[in-house]
Amino acid sequence: MTLYGLRPVLRWTRTLAGGRRPVPSRVRRISAVAPPAERLVAITFDDGPTRGITEQVLETLERCGARGTFDIIGSTADNYPDTAGRAGTPLWSGRRYDHYAAFGRDGEAGLRAQPDLVRRIAAGGHEVSNHSYRHLAFGPEHLVYRGRHAHEGAAAALEDQRRLHDACRALLGQAPRLGRPPHYIDRTPDGWSAYDLYDAMGYQYLAASLDLGGWRRSRNSRAATVDDALAALRTQLRTDPAALSGQVLFAKDGYNMSLQPVVCWALPLQLELLAAAGYRVVTVSELLESSPFADVPPTDPAAAAARRLLAAGVPCAFRDNTLRVEGPLRRGELAAWLAGPVSPPALLGAADGRHARPDPAGMAAARGWLEPGVPGEPVARAELERSLERWEWVSSRTGADAAPVAPGGGGGAVTRRLALARMAAALGTRCGPEWRRPGA
Ligand SMILES: [Zn+2]
Repeated sequence: MTLYGLRPVLRWTRTLAGGRRPVPSRVRRISAVAPPAERLVAITFDDGPTRGITEQVLETLERCGARGTFDIIGSTADNYPDTAGRAGTPLWSGRRYDHYAAFGRDGEAGLRAQPDLVRRIAAGGHEVSNHSYRHLAFGPEHLVYRGRHAHEGAAAALEDQRRLHDACRALLGQAPRLGRPPHYIDRTPDGWSAYDLYDAMGYQYLAASLDLGGWRRSRNSRAATVDDALAALRTQLRTDPAALSGQVLFAKDGYNMSLQPVVCWALPLQLELLAAAGYRVVTVSELLESSPFADVPPTDPAAAAARRLLAAGVPCAFRDNTLRVEGPLRRGELAAWLAGPVSPPALLGAADGRHARPDPAGMAAARGWLEPGVPGEPVARAELERSLERWEWVSSRTGADAAPVAPGGGGGAVTRRLALARMAAALGTRCGPEWRRPGA
């Protein structure tokens, strides 16, 4: 039986052991962050650039002093043979594949056909993010997109990511740092996930917390359609004007399901509502710079420690972008921190090193914070070694190493807050600058 064959059993065991455990990861799913000091919000624009639409989106953003994050594609021109879908349905752009700007109009969208628009996006201080070259899902989806072609496995999905990554770097002199899976489908048919792919790419997983519409089917009139695109924003701001601070909003840089450029009509009004509530619209990277984690404010020293460790390649946050600092550090997590990432070796081989494995010598030095003699609550060396020996990538997913790390002399568990502080300090004093991932 393969590892994947074992998965249902492992999942069942994990449920018995106390439910779904958060997975330590260098790739964090960014949908919102803890509110920054000022009211900041980010808007993401998917599936472009689109001729005739992106120009207007950029003009609107620039007129309002706002910056956007554009989840661009490479081209859907190679996604044929295919047959047209029906407007107003989820398959509006094609039956077997997606086609942007629309079926038969692939030359109007994407980096390959519209490089000048991508250049203009970057020149305006906006952010470019990787939404895949061909907009193929990472794996099959059995409900809405049943019958759609997806990548055969992680290697093909990674190659497609890399193709757009390299094209961006060649065109702009700068590569993306964020990725968003087409249709948010995370699993590849061979058992890997968007997190594994993005770890190999050196990306963060870009999600969103509020849908501005702009992709849905049009209503009876233009006014009703625009109203539909403003509803979610209005409701949020009316309930609590501060509620959107730190949030990532979703918009579309292309036609909606009814082939109308709703984003061009709605964006000026959406930006007006945000400005009236005191928001500054920034890129996702700017947002992460002001507040990196979902559950810890940027002013908390734990946020600074975790940021430092992540920059060094230590997976000290969880996939949902939390740090859970008051919780006990588990042995599996500690092993993950010390042993490095949990990525598939086949994919790591293809990575460009932006997320290089931490250097083993640096890791050994960092263990110093656990040893007796370091002030605080040291962990018994033997316990740590046992934990490292037993640990393998599957254990962090199954909770096999779920026992809290206990100090050597007994007593309570080590909290993540303490562990972050100690390890960040060890990184500064015991490891030279050589223990940094390239480009960090
Ligand atoms: Zn998309």
